[in-house]
Amino acid sequence: WREVELLASQMATETERAESRTLPLIAICGRPNVGKSTLFNRLTGSRRSIVGDEPGITRDRIYGEIEWMNRDARIVDTGGVIPDDEALIPAEIFRQAQVALDEADAIVMVVDGRTELASPDMELARLLLRGGKPVFLAVNKMDTEALLPSAENFRRLGFRNVLPISAEHNSGIGDLLDAVFAVLPEVDIEEPVVMLTATDEADEDEDGPDYSIAPAAKRVRHLRSHGEYESRETKIAIIGRPNVGKSTLLNALTGTKRAIVSPIAGTTRDAVDEVVERDGHAFRFVDTAGIRRKGKTKLMAEKLSVVMARKHLEAADVSLLVIDATEGVAALDANIGGYAHESGRSVIIVVNKWDLMTKTGPDGNRLFDGKQPANQKVYEQQVRDALKYLDYAPLLFVSAADGKNIEQVFKKVELVARERRKRITTGQMNRFLERVDFQRASVPMSKRVRIYYMTQAAVAPPTFVLFTDKDVKLHFSFERFLENQIRESFGFIGSPIWFKVRARN
Ligand code: GDP
Ligand code: GDP
Repeated sequence: WREVELLASQMATETERAESRTLPLIAICGRPNVGKSTLFNRLTGSRRSIVGDEPGITRDRIYGEIEWMNRDARIVDTGGVIPDDEALIPAEIFRQAQVALDEADAIVMVVDGRTELASPDMELARLLLRGGKPVFLAVNKMDTEALLPSAENFRRLGFRNVLPISAEHNSGIGDLLDAVFAVLPEVDIEEPVVMLTATDEADEDEDGPDYSIAPAAKRVRHLRSHGEYESRETKIAIIGRPNVGKSTLLNALTGTKRAIVSPIAGTTRDAVDEVVERDGHAFRFVDTAGIRRKGKTKLMAEKLSVVMARKHLEAADVSLLVIDATEGVAALDANIGGYAHESGRSVIIVVNKWDLMTKTGPDGNRLFDGKQPANQKVYEQQVRDALKYLDYAPLLFVSAADGKNIEQVFKKVELVARERRKRITTGQMNRFLERVDFQRASVPMSKRVRIYYMTQAAVAPPTFVLFTDKDVKLHFSFERFLENQIRESFGFIGSPIWFKVRARN
């Protein structure tokens, strides 16, 4: 178990390092209808972003990943959060451009090469050029050779890098990517990330499981080929301390009547995921070999359960935090729940072995450990008191061994998977801000901030950027208040909500 401990601490630092070493970000800016999302889809291969002529369509995804010449980057389509309201559009473009300037390593401004230069184009160009980040002008809709010369007109915007493209016909895209990737910082993604890839039970001799190194690049690539960008699939981590019933639950979930299960190589070496398909939705249980893995000794098993939870969370969208009903929330459950909360994954609390709490005994008034049959309301309150930070997580009572309430698990997974991808338009957000009475927040005067506006910058987990009068970290009670108000209006069931603050000066 020393090794497990070592590994756990190594993983912690690796995770931190991975966070600071995230992929470079490319932002796509421009006014509506120039073809940003068509370009975005072209670059990421995403089939899910919606493209259409209707104004004001909400796009469900704006972040994607891209690989070019063996290098990886993230890409964001800033157009995804432009509100319906025409009047708001220019201001919104600039807000988004500002976000792009703050966060991106390179910016691609897109214009429609078939239209005249418009004044918002010029203002946006000025803002971007002043920002000091590498900027590129993609003159889009240059579908034929004959149109190419007209791209030159756009040099007036002042960009040095002007590239004619046709997002729809896939021309000029390679040149654009060559130019953009040339300025992106190198990220050494081949650097190995320590991952627990203990092979199988047989390997687990006295020396403990066998750990090996899996390159992060492999993982990233895998996510791209099988991951969320290409299919409607929810990746699920079953986490919890030893003997709460994780493997029994997995068996119940994959053994349901309507399940078509296929094992698929997982994201790390030797890991196997099982994919259950039901009603047009794919549920991928990550690293099922890991879920069934048992530690030799109690201590070993406990440490392993934490390491596994962290590793599984990394590969998942939604986590099932399994609690043993007969034992209630123990310190280790709270510890694992804390990791789930911080990971940004959605959480469903699954109270398992409920059969043992309700069965009636020989005297017709069955007691578990001499206690009265439990009441779900009372029980839920106890769990919630012990896991306060997970107040957004739905809670289910199941009996995995009897297959009781297993259907509900699928329903809830589908629900929270949908909720975490939900996007609130800036128009909705503005109306929301007008409604909220911030005086009601119990926050000391000196800690109060004024929110000028707020925008949802990302989904999964929903992340809001607040533009405020002060450059301070949000006071805990203020953040709490805001989060509650957001949930009241928009839900986001099962998902944590993240905030970023930017002082507007
Ligand atoms: P966005 O609002 O900037 O994200 O623009 P969209 O990607 O939604 O595109 C707006 C319209 O322009 C859609 O009707 C696209 O089909 C069209 N479009 C995008 N790229 C091209 C292109 O390269 N050539 C032509 N002819 N039309 C394009
Ligand atoms: P894991 O270590 O979390 O994977 O837990 P297991 O799935 O191996 O389950 C541990 C023990 O709890 C086994 O003996 C299971 O049979 C038992 N168990 C699991 N789920 C239930 C349940 O719903 N009801 C009852 N009564 N026992 C259960």
